[in-house]
Amino acid sequence: MEEIGFLGLGIMGKAMSMNLLRHGFKVTVWNRTRSRCDELVEHGATVGESPADVIKKCKYTIAMLSDPAAALSVVFDKDGVLEQIGSGKGYVDMSTVDAETSSQICKAITAKGGSFLEAPVSGSKKPAEDGQLVILAAGEKALYEAVKPAFDVMGKKSFFLGEVGNGAKMKLVVNMIMGSMMNAFSEGLVLADKSGLNQDTLLDVLDLGAIANPMFKLKGPSMVQGKYSPAFPLKHQQKDMKLALALGDENSVPMPVAAASNEAFKKARSLGLGDLDFSAVHETVKSDKGSS
Ligand code: NAP
Repeated sequence: MEEIGFLGLGIMGKAMSMNLLRHGFKVTVWNRTRSRCDELVEHGATVGESPADVIKKCKYTIAMLSDPAAALSVVFDKDGVLEQIGSGKGYVDMSTVDAETSSQICKAITAKGGSFLEAPVSGSKKPAEDGQLVILAAGEKALYEAVKPAFDVMGKKSFFLGEVGNGAKMKLVVNMIMGSMMNAFSEGLVLADKSGLNQDTLLDVLDLGAIANPMFKLKGPSMVQGKYSPAFPLKHQQKDMKLALALGDENSVPMPVAAASNEAFKKARSLGLGDLDFSAVHETVKSDKGSS
């Protein structure tokens, strides 16, 4: 593949671009906070001055940004993607956004002659570091085929889901389920503790039964210790719950469990826990902070 551009070096973008470098891709990076590029440069990346500069230099550019506002800003603002995108260039947005945002970006890029793929991912910091993400792509099939070698390095499996919007929707469904599960898990941990049971024993029991899953196994021990080092920031989980609820509204799907979970994540944000891992929602159940 030609040189790849990478916009957004947060928890996920840094790990994903590092993986590309490790596997021999030439990568040009850009991040709003420039200092976050330094570590990538040490590993062989070059730095673009702006999103437009990266697009100019690279045939294919990947973005991994926090939310719809960030994804739109990087494309539409001054020195943004639109200024240099055109025929023969592809833009792949791997951020988690809603289908409407993705379609808006797609329309603007294709109007300029470029091609577009949305490709949000399932999997957190560790799978990103290990190249074990699940990639949920939709949009221009030819672009999907062209960037597949990069997806193969970043992920363990890629899906092509058809028209733009389907990747975004699939990702929101997955994260809606995950967020609801995290709330049930937090309540279970606190209920065990307050009713005199050992939480580590609960984790062992869960792990041997039908609801065993990697998330409980990975997050449970640190939650018991009250440690929430951010792999998936809580503020992003709440953004995804909010976007999934909007998708539910559009489709008249009742989602009382997701709605209650969204409230718990909002409560956690109001308590200043937004930059911690999403498992910090546990703190809203542990004391009466959550119901005050
Ligand atoms: P993060 O660590 O918070 O990084 C966010 C990135 O977006 C940073 O590079 C940040 O730049 C950039 N950004 C934010 N606002 C911007 C703006 N207005 N203009 C330009 N850049 C902006 O988030 P993350 O965990 O890497 O997540 C990135 C995306 O992947 C999110 O959509 C998230 O929902 C999704 N995701 C995350 C995980 C996970 O486990 N972490 C898993 C799957 C999907 P600065 O450095 O300048 O702040």
